[in-house]
Amino acid sequence: MAEDGSIGEGPIIRVSTSGKNRIRGREVLHAAREPTASIPIVEVGPTGIRELEPLILATYQGETAFYPQCSLMRVRDLVVALDDGSLPTKGAMAVTEHDPDTATLPTPDEGTFALGHRRVLDRSGWVVPANTHDYVASEDFLAATAADRADEWLSTLQDVSLRGRGRGDGACDTPVVDAWSTVQTVRDERESEPVVVVNANEADPNAEMDRLLLESNPLAVLDAALAVARIIGATNLLVYLNENEDLARDRVNEAAAELTNKVGADIPIEAIAGPNEYKAGEMTMAIEALEGNHRLEARLRPPFPTEEGLYGRPTLIHTPRTLAQIRSLFANGGDTIGTGSDPGTRLVTVVGDIETPLTLELPTDETLSVVKQAVDLDGRPKAACVGGVFGGVTRSLDVPIHMNALTAANLGTNGVVELFGQNRCMLSVVGNRASFAEKENCGRCFPCRGGTQQLASMLRDIYDGAFDAEKIRELLGTMRRSSICQFGQDAQRPVATAMNEFESEFRAHAEGYCPNDVCIQT
Ligand code: SF4
Repeated sequence: MAEDGSIGEGPIIRVSTSGKNRIRGREVLHAAREPTASIPIVEVGPTGIRELEPLILATYQGETAFYPQCSLMRVRDLVVALDDGSLPTKGAMAVTEHDPDTATLPTPDEGTFALGHRRVLDRSGWVVPANTHDYVASEDFLAATAADRADEWLSTLQDVSLRGRGRGDGACDTPVVDAWSTVQTVRDERESEPVVVVNANEADPNAEMDRLLLESNPLAVLDAALAVARIIGATNLLVYLNENEDLARDRVNEAAAELTNKVGADIPIEAIAGPNEYKAGEMTMAIEALEGNHRLEARLRPPFPTEEGLYGRPTLIHTPRTLAQIRSLFANGGDTIGTGSDPGTRLVTVVGDIETPLTLELPTDETLSVVKQAVDLDGRPKAACVGGVFGGVTRSLDVPIHMNALTAANLGTNGVVELFGQNRCMLSVVGNRASFAEKENCGRCFPCRGGTQQLASMLRDIYDGAFDAEKIRELLGTMRRSSICQFGQDAQRPVATAMNEFESEFRAHAEGYCPNDVCIQT
């Protein structure tokens, strides 16, 4: 094993935690370092399965034992045993055999780790996050050869038609190559200098996907961003983070310094924190925040940021999710999985009426029903909201997670699946979302500002006996068609879809009772 990394043949203890469990993770790390042992003990990032944290991975001679929620006493014993030359396996959740030099997490064949396909999460929870030795253990930096291979990679992207991931991506659900081409065209026509923005300020506490990537494998995201910047001729690379996500920020800063050191400082990489407000994740409000504006308002479009973005420069905005897909595509020589119309995988954070949120990686041809195997829900879920706070409500999870299927089912593509148990009141669920939209919108356009106000008020009126389904649907249609940005276009969706599936529950409230005894006690 090299001095500064974790990949290699020797024995090693890895302590895996996310920012959410960092305090406990640090305690376990310190306890592991208490015995005077000669073996390395390293902190690695999260795996996505938060209920296992702090997760200890004890590795020796091509075998790894998994110890979830490890106590301080247990970790000390593990270190002593490993230091004595044997891999302790008693009480382990799983023991896996693997190539001693593997650079990817050797996952068990059963349980949550076996669900989906860990393609962009392949190293999460295994490599030391900003360690370049670990990062290049099985492949070189993308950015190192990007300029020479630009034509080849553009043609691969054209053939594969990879789509952007996440509501804050400048190419959300559209082919990323189109956004790159626009930036290049504007660069040549106006002789202006493009900029690349990594939009990592998702600002939805339920959406863990981007944070997971930055906490566990920030070099993959930044390496892809730098490769893209070199291909499109950008002169700056900005990473837009959430002000509350300290671990992600620290790891990005560390990875940026390492990357610059290894592949050159021709394009400066700068990390900037934005407000922890949902609207701040919208791509044009992200630009406003990066320009230092405190009052965030969405920008009219056209022009789109690819034409006129940060300080008027052509700006390519990708989320960490998109960049991780780009890295995976190029690192695998253009090979991909999933459906042809929306290739690759999608990260899905499962939340709601479950014990602990977790994030899975699913090929786009799998259905959402996989998430039910990953959680301990008391019985069958009554419904799910798919796509984040402004996702769509559905009774069925038998929907493939590619963009076309999700859109056809009027569900969101933003990667959060919120499960609701049988006792949930759907009017109360979507009423809270309408109030959230009323408070959080930026106020720039009337269909959203006035629409969310009117919607919240009409939903409140139901409790007074006034339920006018036709009028509500008319308002929802106006918000969807006429709002300037995605916020207002999507804010209507929870109510629209819940009314399609649960209109009888809405009527019951107008008649004076809540079928679930949640918001009106009978
Ligand atoms: S849709 Fe809402 S968030 Fe977007 S510009 Fe209009 S008011 Fe602002």
